Amino acid sequence: MGGLASALVLAKKGFKEINVYQNASNLGFVGAGIQLAPNMGCKKMPTIKFYFGCTVTEIGSFQPRVAFTIQKRDGSTEHIGTDVLLAADGVKSITRSALLAQIYYVSEVEDTSHAAYRGSVRSDIGLVISIQSRTIYNMSSIQPDANFASAPSMTYTTKGSKDAMVIVFSDFFPDGGVCKWKLRVQKPLPTWVHGAVALVGDACYPTLPHLNQGASQAIEDAAVPAEVLSRSPTSDLASINKSLRVYELVRKERASLLVQWAADDKKFAEANAGGKTVPYKWASPDVQEYIYSHDCMKEASENCFSLHDGLS
Ligand SMILES: Cc1cc2nc3c(=O)[nH]c(=O)nc-3n(C[C@H](O)[C@H](O)[C@H](O)COP(=O)(O)OP(=O)(O)OC[C@H]3O[C@@H](n4cnc5c(N)ncnc54)[C@H](O)[C@@H]3O)c2cc1C
Repeated sequence: MGGLASALVLAKKGFKEINVYQNASNLGFVGAGIQLAPNMGCKKMPTIKFYFGCTVTEIGSFQPRVAFTIQKRDGSTEHIGTDVLLAADGVKSITRSALLAQIYYVSEVEDTSHAAYRGSVRSDIGLVISIQSRTIYNMSSIQPDANFASAPSMTYTTKGSKDAMVIVFSDFFPDGGVCKWKLRVQKPLPTWVHGAVALVGDACYPTLPHLNQGASQAIEDAAVPAEVLSRSPTSDLASINKSLRVYELVRKERASLLVQWAADDKKFAEANAGGKTVPYKWASPDVQEYIYSHDCMKEASENCFSLHDGLS
C-alpha cells in the first residue's frame, strides 16, 4: 500500500529511477479487502519498475549510499545500491529491525487483546467488501483475542477455527475457511529515519482498524517523501537525510495520535473532553474533522524549507 503509493507520488514529482522490490509474485489481491477512508487517493503512473518475487533480506548500509540484499524466488541473491530507500515493508518490517539495530533500540510489540477473522464469501451479503468485480467478497471481524496473548510477538496469523468463529458470530456463516489475524501495535519508535533510509506506514506504526486509518495513513506517509525530497536543496546525503527527517516531523505526530485513538478509549475520551459523547471514535465530529480536513502534501510543501533549515 505505502510502497506503491510512494512510487506513484515520486513518479508524479518527476523522479526518474524508482524501483519497487516486492516479495509477492504479482500485484494480485492477497485474500484481504479493506475499507479506505476518503482522506486518501492516488493515480497510476507509468515510469516505475517492479521487481516481483524479490524479498529484501538485509540492509547492508544506511549511508552514505544505501545498500541492501534481495533474494529471488530461485534462491539467488543480488546486492542493490540506491540513493534513498523508502521501506514500506509492513508490520513485519525487516528494515525496521535493521534501522533500530543501528541505534541500539529494541522495539516492543504491545498486545492489543484483539484478533480478527478474515475470509471470503461468494454471496451478496451486504456487510462484506467486494474485491473482485463483485464476484468475491472479503469479510473480517474484530473480537476479543485469547490465542495470541501469551506470545504477542511470535505470529501474526494462524488458521482460525470456523466452529469457534461461529460461536462468536452465531448468526453469520462464511463459505470456505477462515483466517485468524492477530491485531498488533508497536510501541512508538524513537525515529523513522536513519541515513538515507525511511520507514513508511505499518513498518513504523501498525494500527488497529477501528478508525479505518491504516491504509490511509500509509498513503499519507507515502505522499510526503516525494514532496520534501523534490525540494531538497542538494542531493548530497546530509540534505537527503534532513529531507527524510522533515518527512518524519510532518507525519509522526499525526500518525501516532491516530494510532493512539484507534487503540485507546481513554485517549479518545481526553480528546473529547469538551463534553460531547459519541458512541464510536470515528463518529466524533472532532475526530472526523482531524482526519478528513488534513492535507499532508500542503503541510509538507508549506513547512518543508523552515523545518529543513531548523535541523542540525
Ligand atoms: C485484519 C486487518 C484488517 C484491516 N482493515 C483495514 C481497513 O479496513 N482499513 C484500513 O485502512 N486498514 C486496514 N488494515 C490495515 C492496513 O491493511 C495496513 O495499515 C496497510 O496495508 C499498511 O500499508 P503498508 O504499505 O504500510 O504495509 P502493507 O500493506 O502490509 O505492505 C507491505 C508490503 O511489503 C511487502 N514486504 C514485506 N516484507 C518484505 C520484504 N522483506 N521484501 C520485500 N517486500 C516485502 C509485503 O509483501 C507487502 O506487499 C487492516 C489490517 C488487518 C490486519
